[in-house]
Parts: sequence; structure tokens; C-alpha cells
Amino acid sequence: MLSSIYHDNQPVTIGILGGGQLAKMSAQAAYRLGLRVAVIEPAENSPAGMMTKADFPLGWYDSTELERFVEVSDIITLENEFIAPEILDGMTDKRLVFPTPDTLRQVQDKFIQKQTMQRAGIPVPVFAAINSVEEAYTFGKEHGYPYVMKTRTLGYDGYGNATVGRDNQAMVAFMRFTSDPDVPRQMMAEKFVKFRKELAVMVARNRRGETAVYPCVETVQENHICRYVLAPAPDIDDGIRKKAQEIAVAAVEAVEGVGVFGVEMFLTDTDKLLYNEIAPRPHNSGHYTIEGCYTSQFENHIRAICNLPLGSPDLIVPAAVMANVLGKRIGSGVPDTVVGLMRHGRVSFHLYGKATSRVGRKMGHLTALGASVQEALALVKAAEEDLLW
Ligand code: ADP
Repeated sequence: MLSSIYHDNQPVTIGILGGGQLAKMSAQAAYRLGLRVAVIEPAENSPAGMMTKADFPLGWYDSTELERFVEVSDIITLENEFIAPEILDGMTDKRLVFPTPDTLRQVQDKFIQKQTMQRAGIPVPVFAAINSVEEAYTFGKEHGYPYVMKTRTLGYDGYGNATVGRDNQAMVAFMRFTSDPDVPRQMMAEKFVKFRKELAVMVARNRRGETAVYPCVETVQENHICRYVLAPAPDIDDGIRKKAQEIAVAAVEAVEGVGVFGVEMFLTDTDKLLYNEIAPRPHNSGHYTIEGCYTSQFENHIRAICNLPLGSPDLIVPAAVMANVLGKRIGSGVPDTVVGLMRHGRVSFHLYGKATSRVGRKMGHLTALGASVQEALALVKAAEEDLLW
């Protein structure tokens, strides 16, 4: 007997902490598998909350709301790694929770995360905790400028990072990140990696430790936000692709991850792979899997946490490209040209249903499949030209 979730024809509810686009696409996969979904998020009408009657819009800081959410959920997961592990701890005696609070503890603090990966034999950039301006200077002296200063927790889309070129800049960055007494921040430093590409690999791992490893993709960032994902990563040899997949699996195993995980890496200008970070949840670099692979990252996430057999992560076509649709103004969550976009019949359009847009906010994405990355990229770029807000 593989699993009991479909036993006795009892409805099974996946509870998701967070109601954004990752929760929405996870919910879509859960519904396809005949499961139900509950969502808790401190907002009315969140993209995922709108999809279910079991929506808990007071969020997890309201203890009664949280209790009701836990009550209706059979297996609990999350879309956002910033939730306090103590909140998850409080659920684990009542429900299965994946990723586990222990996995989250290993991941949330980038310094602890890098130590964990280093101990597992994964190649990481030179890094150190820095607890004072003097230690920031010392890192520069020992490892050279420029280097990257990072907040150990709560960083995303580059917020929380600063590249510093000399002592003075290190001092300014350290003071800026640590000066708010309401938000105590610990800092770390990382040697600046001269990379020729940023790569990512999604890995799904179920409770039996079985894994499904997605292709190695290239992520193209603009202003620290992912703009395109190219699958498979072009212009690298198969040995590097395979090594990237091995590092990704090792990283997920190092934190005993259950669910789907995104592992980001640098390919240096001398063709070495260095681990950057892990996301303990579905990840932007895996959105192409919805149309591009036999089993999407979202479906394999649900299968993994339910301890079901995993589906094939292989591409069903030679190539897929995803482009993020980023907000260009403050205002409606729907681009003015949405209908024109749909005239691009070979481009799949996902609009997340966020109430309002902001500059740089992820509002949706486009995916195109092709015989080559170049062909898929050309399709996506043609559609992007019609994307005015
Ligand atoms: P976030 O958690 O905000 O995504 P990351 O640590 O992944 O932060 O860094 C964001 C981006 O900053 C990376 O995608 C990469 O472009 C750049 N970056 C991060 N660390 C380094 C490094 N050590 N050397 C060079 N660039 C880096």
C-alpha cells in the first residue's frame, strides 16, 4: 500500500500558509488531484484564498483563526519561508507539516543555511557572519573587495543585499541594515562571485526520500528580480547540468526536505558551480514546469507532501521559456492589453489575480514552449511587447 490519503474516499484537505501565487498554483494542482484546499493569509481575497470556502483571512497571528485552519487541514504546507518555525511547531502534534519546522530552521537564516550546505560537502562561496563594522572591514581585508553583505534573514528579490566596494561602503551598508531597533538584523558577508550564469534546479522529495529532479535552468535577473527562466539552461555542457542536479539533490537532503525545493547556483566564469540558496517551496524558476514538463513543480509538491509517487519531471518538449509579468505602476492588477496578449496563441498567460499592482511586483507570468530555447524566447518576447500596463 503506497499511501492512505485516498483511503475510504474521505476528502483530504491541504492547508496552505500563505495565499499568493505560489499557493494559488499549488491549489490548482491539488484540485486536479481531487483534494481540497484551505488557505490562511492575513488578507481578504488573496489569490489563493479566493479559490476556496476554507479561507482564513485573519492570518496566523490570530490564534483562533489559526486553530480553525489547522482543524480543517489534513496536511499543512506553506508558500513562504518567512513564517516563524514556532508557529509550525504548534501544529506538528496535530497535523503533518511539510516542510518541517526543522527544515525551515536550517533555511531561514542564510548563514546557518550555508553552514549546513558546507558541512554536507556542497561548494559554497567563502562566507562569514559579521557582527560589527570591524568584522565587516576584516572580511574585506581577508577576502577582498567587492563582497556581498547580506541580512541573514528575511531577504528576497535582492532586498537585504548590498555589494560593497571598500571599507566606507561596508560601514554604510552595515549601519543601514542594522540601525532599526524594531527589526534586529544579523548580517553575513560573502565573497563576490564572478559568475557567467545563474542556474536553478527544482527537486521534489517525498516522505520516503524519493526524488524527482527537474532540468537545470538558467535564471536571468534584472534589478535583482528574475525576468526570464530558460529551460534547459543554454550554452553549458551536460556535465555541468548533471552536477547542478546533484548539488540540488544534496542540498534538499541536507535539510531533510519534504515537498518541492528550488536550489539556486552560480556558474562561475571558470565553469565552477557554487551553491547560492534554497527555497523550501515551489519557486519562480519552476513555473515553466506547468506547461513544459510531464508533472509540474506544484503537482509534485502536493504529491511529495502526501507521500504519493512522484510524476516525471522531464520536459515534454525540447525547450520552455518563462517570463515574469512585473507591475509597471501602482494600480490595477490587470494589464490594459490583456486581450491583445491572448492573441499570442502559443504563449500561455497566467494572471495571479492580485488586487493591485506595484512597480516590480510579480503580477503573472508567460510561458512558451519551443524546439529550442531561442524559439521559445522569441515567442515570449513578442508577447511581452504587447504587455503594457
Ligand atoms: P535573495 O534572497 O534576495 O534572492 P540572494 O542571496 O539570492 O538574495 O541574492 C540575490 C542576487 O544577488 C543573486 O541572484 C545574485 O544575482 C546576487 N548575488 C548574491 N550573492 C552573490 C555573491 N556572493 N556574488 C555575486 N552576486 C551575488
